[in-house]
Amino acid sequence: MAKLTVRDLTAEQLRGRRALVRVDFNVPLDEHGHITDDTRIRAAIPTLELLVERGARVVLLSHLGRPKGKPDAKYSLEPVARRLKELMPRRDVSFVESTDTDEAQKATMALTDGQVVLLENTRFLGGEESNDPRLARGLAQLGDLYVNDAFGAAHRAHASTEGVAHHLSPAVAGLLMDRELAYLHGALEQPGHPFVAILGGSKISGKIDVIDALLPKVDALLVGGAMACTFYKAMGLEIGKSLVEPDRVEMAKELLEQAGTRLILPHDATVAADLKSGASARAVPRDGIPADMAMLDIGPRTAESYARAILSARTVLWNGPMGVFETPPFDKGTRAIADAMASATGRGATTIVGGGDSAAAVEQFGLAPKMSHVSTGGGASLEFLEGKALPGVDALTER
Ligand code: ADP
Ligand code: MG
Repeated sequence: MAKLTVRDLTAEQLRGRRALVRVDFNVPLDEHGHITDDTRIRAAIPTLELLVERGARVVLLSHLGRPKGKPDAKYSLEPVARRLKELMPRRDVSFVESTDTDEAQKATMALTDGQVVLLENTRFLGGEESNDPRLARGLAQLGDLYVNDAFGAAHRAHASTEGVAHHLSPAVAGLLMDRELAYLHGALEQPGHPFVAILGGSKISGKIDVIDALLPKVDALLVGGAMACTFYKAMGLEIGKSLVEPDRVEMAKELLEQAGTRLILPHDATVAADLKSGASARAVPRDGIPADMAMLDIGPRTAESYARAILSARTVLWNGPMGVFETPPFDKGTRAIADAMASATGRGATTIVGGGDSAAAVEQFGLAPKMSHVSTGGGASLEFLEGKALPGVDALTER
């Protein structure tokens, strides 16, 4: 866990040296290739500024989208380089259209102290996702030391996240990576109690290991989202047309038996015939879901009692929306959780949001600044919460 970070590197160690920095610039693009959300680019800037301030020559690697191991203009990082330039107006930022080539190598050698170059998408390279040792060695030629700030990609053992780290020394965590790990590790290992976790989202299947890992650590695990319906089904309740995973009902039964009173399911549900019928949405008790309706959000009583639990907690960890928050009025439960967490932060609690859609919800409500931490890595944060090692972190130099 205790890995070196960029903060540990002095100007003497950094000046004149090429810092090969793996960032997560995997930003969402619209159909015209325009960046619709630059949060991930902004999130890397503190690390880049620290390196530049201390005189390093910064070489950036990132993936974008899923180009399947060959160049695909749709997924070029060129627009990202343009955005990065706008975000670092006082710095010298350039872009090179290839990655592990002589051209790229020369560009890194031509850098002067404090200059920044972004290389092309690592997933244009066949060996990236297979963690090809030759590619890892090739990438290591692009820098003199390694910084991994791509928390969102740390759960994947790829050539640019894991392989390359073995060939450069030191290999350190960036500021974003360090912050992500500190919050998640802190919640799991030294949470202030009461420790309340809230889990929701569409599927129970991807989150069973998280439930297993969190149950022994939390004081209460509050369930929402469509995930609740699979538990209802396991309890023999009518769930109507709600989203359910029939092949997970047995597992849900077992979880309910083991969990005791710490696993809490919604008492009531907001139901409607379908997503377009928001106007006729109504609240019903959980044993009163009509056969021709679907649960699309937690009900108001549940939202209130979950909010109370959150307000009395010292540590709150949230993953997965409570309902179909993208389509009002089914955003109410998710909003209630986000509002309660924002207030809890104000009262001194540590509040952490993990998961791509939950983070998007919190952003959409304008409440991200009111959380202690909003994770930039959905998959990586889930794997961390499951107790799995993150290969991109494991490969870094011990303190
Ligand atoms: P995260 O990305 O935060 O981990 P998930 O990907 O697991 O979250 O789930 C998010 C999705 O779950 C959202 O698109 C939301 O619309 C959906 N969802 C939540 N509750 C329900 C529900 N009751 N019925 C159908 N979909 C739901
Ligand atoms: Mg998601």
